Amino acid sequence: MAYKFVDNYRERGARKQLVKHLEKRGIEDKRVLQAIGKVPRHFFFDETFWNQAYRDIAFPIGDGQTISQPYTVAYQSELLHVKKGDKILEIGTGSGYQTCILIELGAEVFTIERQESLYRRTIQVLPYMGYKPHFFLGDGSRGVPKHAPYDKIIVTAGAPFVPEVMLKQLRYGGILVIPVGDEKSQKMVTILRVGENDFERIELDTFRFVPLVGDQAW
Ligand code: SAM
Repeated sequence: MAYKFVDNYRERGARKQLVKHLEKRGIEDKRVLQAIGKVPRHFFFDETFWNQAYRDIAFPIGDGQTISQPYTVAYQSELLHVKKGDKILEIGTGSGYQTCILIELGAEVFTIERQESLYRRTIQVLPYMGYKPHFFLGDGSRGVPKHAPYDKIIVTAGAPFVPEVMLKQLRYGGILVIPVGDEKSQKMVTILRVGENDFERIELDTFRFVPLVGDQAW
């Protein structure tokens, strides 16, 4: 497939405004803000909707799914404390926007999506944009055990509980960031793996995600 993406002064200007807005909303990590300022979010939208791409809103991407709100992407990215070379598992590739942010932060990203149409699109669009994660199609609620352990795991859909299997795929010192709650709202939860069966859990702000659907989920 041939893609023709343009990133002109209008989109670059809108991206700068978005970064300022996220800073005002409390995102402090300069590297996360730089990554948001770099990744062309409008490439994940149909050209008709480019004027929506730098608003701080989630937006439909087809198949009942959404590209996450920029604030949510920045918030989860900040919580991961991404270091260069971190091996990160992302559950819920969606549009691939969050994936690109993690790669900009220096991570090696393993990303899994359960919807085939979205998976097919991202395996074409992301490499075309120059981003090369490891793509998987399937139920990520069980993680991706084959490539574990991971330094960090990020879940971009709302889970009813924290799946035990994900915790087991974290390295010691590793961090899981996962929204947990009911269908209407979820608390952002971070879990640090301290030892074999030793975990530190923190509950943060409330968000609204599409559901994590699968064996260890809804
Ligand atoms: N962060 C993504 C982005 O930037 O576009 C947004 C992801 S969207 C809010 C959540 C995604 O998780 C959807 O694409 C959905 O199909 C996917 N999903 C839900 N349950 C899943 C599962 N068990 N395994 C993998 N992906 C799942």
